[in-house]
Amino acid sequence: MSDSTQDDVLPAEGNSKVLKMQSPMGIHDILPKDHEYFTFIKKVARHRFRQAGFRRITTPILEYTEVFKRAVGEDTDVVSKEMYTFEDRSGRSLTLKPEGTAGAVRAYIQHGMKELPQPVELYYIEPHFRYDRPQKGRYRMFWQIGAEIIGESDPALDVQCIFLVYKMLRDLGIAERIDLQINNIGSQKSREKYKEALVNYYTGKERSLCEDCQRRMHSNPLRLLDCKNEDCRILAQLAPKFEQYRTPEDQDFHRLVKEFLDELGITYTENPQLVRGLDYYTQTVFEFWDKSTGSQNAIGGGGRYDGLVELMGGPATPAVGFALGIERVINQMKEAGVIVPSKDEVHIFVAQLGDEAKKKCLPLIDQLRDAGIRTVGALGKGSMKAQMRLADKFAVPYCLIMGATEVREGVVIVRDMSKGQQRAVPMKDVVKEVTKLIGKENLDTYTPGEIAF
Ligand code: AMP
Repeated sequence: MSDSTQDDVLPAEGNSKVLKMQSPMGIHDILPKDHEYFTFIKKVARHRFRQAGFRRITTPILEYTEVFKRAVGEDTDVVSKEMYTFEDRSGRSLTLKPEGTAGAVRAYIQHGMKELPQPVELYYIEPHFRYDRPQKGRYRMFWQIGAEIIGESDPALDVQCIFLVYKMLRDLGIAERIDLQINNIGSQKSREKYKEALVNYYTGKERSLCEDCQRRMHSNPLRLLDCKNEDCRILAQLAPKFEQYRTPEDQDFHRLVKEFLDELGITYTENPQLVRGLDYYTQTVFEFWDKSTGSQNAIGGGGRYDGLVELMGGPATPAVGFALGIERVINQMKEAGVIVPSKDEVHIFVAQLGDEAKKKCLPLIDQLRDAGIRTVGALGKGSMKAQMRLADKFAVPYCLIMGATEVREGVVIVRDMSKGQQRAVPMKDVVKEVTKLIGKENLDTYTPGEIAF
């Protein structure tokens, strides 16, 4: 992932000479080396989700814009500034999904999941899109691992979400680098009084606020608490704390969350300023911060959203969820020096000279691959020298070589690349022989029906 921040000034339409053929700003290719991390992280996530009884859901990459406006809130940065919104050919407004919860909740309602045993536990691993300012760890297309527990309100479920993330971070070798921040922002009702107190506090201080906060002061005053602007942060530190406005129910809820976390040995930092960017949160909110850089590089976050299902037209249904940013997890793993196992290394390179040899090599390559041996064949017209140079580039431990003489004699030459030694093996024994050399435990076998997806 590169972190280009150059301006993305588009050339005039039709001026193809100046249009650089590159991915859009802030949107990156995932190259093979990073896919090793992606695959590893997805496997860990799927494993932990399955153990906990979660089922996978994939919602469409785009939804009617209304889904996000309603769920996330029109006053949020995500909806007001960051969505990729366009009209389809019949004039309906569609949006590339900027987050996962709204779509999951829309699907829960649309498919009558209320009739299933509750809570319904769903997870997803998907790309999301936000027209954000690109910088290190902040992209316009990014991948999230997310989960939603819909249909039950109990602090133990909030802690289940946090614990799942914690288990994954431990599996990925980065738990020690991450600090869990938690807060309780009460129910929507108990927040009303607090919002009033915030507006009172900020009244008269407008000139010290950034433009965004001046605008949000009346529409969404809670957001002033987690603004990253230096002056706004100073003011936020002195602002009234929600703690004094929590109802006895809010207090009980928060106390139990903390007790359950203690029970599971999860350490946390209480952060009264943590409110999260999206409107739908209630009660528990949490984020996973890099211990050294803090909120700028949260690798994940989540919280309870008891009012959202109803807000989106479903029956009153409590819920809680979280999302982890895969690119940020990968950055953490790289910084921590975590190496993931590579399954891309090629075992065998097959070199051949002449059409007759090529004819014999094609079925041989197929048999080797079926046996779980990762095989690359040089099937172009290169000289033997050029093919061997290519074999070196693949860093294969063994090479199979076949020319006209080997075809005539019914043998294949097996060359040990590190020792530089070679010997002729009868064609019928080659797969068995190579399997022995590679080792059964290293084979990449695929048995439909048995494979762990
Ligand atoms: P949010 O719901 O905005 O807190 O997002 C949850 C997680 O997704 C964050 O903690 C990040 O790890 C990741 N994330 C959010 N926005 C971006 C972005 N623009 N680029 C990369 N990762 C992101």
